[in-house]
Amino acid sequence: MDFLRPAGWEEALAAKAEHPTAVPIAGGTDVMVEINFDHRRPEYLLDLTRVAELAEWEATDRTVRLGAGVPYTRIIEELRTELPGLALAAHTIGSPQIRNRGTVGGNLGAASPAGDAHPALLAAGAEVEAASVRGTRRIPVEEFFTGVKRHALEPDELIRAVHIRRADGPQQFSKVGTRNAMVIAVCAFAVALHPRTRTVRTGIGSAAPTPVRARAAEEFLGGALEEGGFWDSGAPLDPSVVRRFAELCAGACRPIDDVRGTAAYRRHAVGVMARRTLGWTWEAYREGEGRTAQCA
Ligand SMILES: Cc1cc2nc3c(=O)[nH]c(=O)nc-3n(C[C@H](O)[C@H](O)[C@H](O)COP(=O)(O)OP(=O)(O)OC[C@H]3O[C@@H](n4cnc5c(N)ncnc54)[C@H](O)[C@@H]3O)c2cc1C
Repeated sequence: MDFLRPAGWEEALAAKAEHPTAVPIAGGTDVMVEINFDHRRPEYLLDLTRVAELAEWEATDRTVRLGAGVPYTRIIEELRTELPGLALAAHTIGSPQIRNRGTVGGNLGAASPAGDAHPALLAAGAEVEAASVRGTRRIPVEEFFTGVKRHALEPDELIRAVHIRRADGPQQFSKVGTRNAMVIAVCAFAVALHPRTRTVRTGIGSAAPTPVRARAAEEFLGGALEEGGFWDSGAPLDPSVVRRFAELCAGACRPIDDVRGTAAYRRHAVGVMARRTLGWTWEAYREGEGRTAQCA
């Protein structure tokens, strides 16, 4: 196995163009497990850890451009205000050691239906910046996942960054596992209120072949909030609205039975998480979080 060690981004793209089968390695928390278990024996490993640009982030008024190689620990420490949903998800990932190494670029690269960053990215609204020597393109995160552990990157492409909408309202993330830490999610759910556009977005993990949004639930809740004047009044939500939102979220799942949980349990748990996280986010909104964003 050859180890390619580009010192910069252009060199990394050139190496990937020359060796399209090379497996990129960032934190290595997925790749090294696969190599150790002999699930994968790539001819080339493309080490991205010396590419300084990948470990940087920058924020504008509306967006955070998160380098693919920024580890979870830094997202928690540096971006909890701009990206609260992703920071909450990052908190649940692995252990401190895994969070020090693991990256969102790696989570996307692995494209597991159980990747915990994915529901938060779907709910916040994000685009993956993919690049090759041929140029750069941005892929909406909902189009990035094409199947179980499959994604939309071409063989010569690398993930440079993720452009994530900066939070303008409350966001939540919830995950069910057999214990509180170091678990692959049985299922996960994220919700984000976007008062500026008066929209709601969701993300579901581990309950379909790919991470998915519950679009019917988003449209239903967005409509109910608009028609009832809730964005302006901040009034408590009618329990029937919350119940219907939860039902529609559960209905967006296409789960399977596996060793971690049954399809029926996953569907039920997603409904429960949807109800709870909507309750928490709406309470935060009523208390003022994001209510001024509407005028911005
Ligand atoms: C003990 C343990 C606990 C874990 N717990 C969780 C958990 O709770 N939740 C969770 O979601 N995950 C968990 N994981 C999985 C892993 O930590 C995450 O998926 C992490 O985000 C991977 O990031 P990484 O930088 O280590 O990726 P790597 O292992 O370096 O790479 C992962 C994949 O992404 C590709 N890749 C990396 N960077 C790029 C790039 N810039 N462009 C294109 N492709 C790229 C690689 O080729 C590979 O296919 C756990 C892993 C371990 C070992």
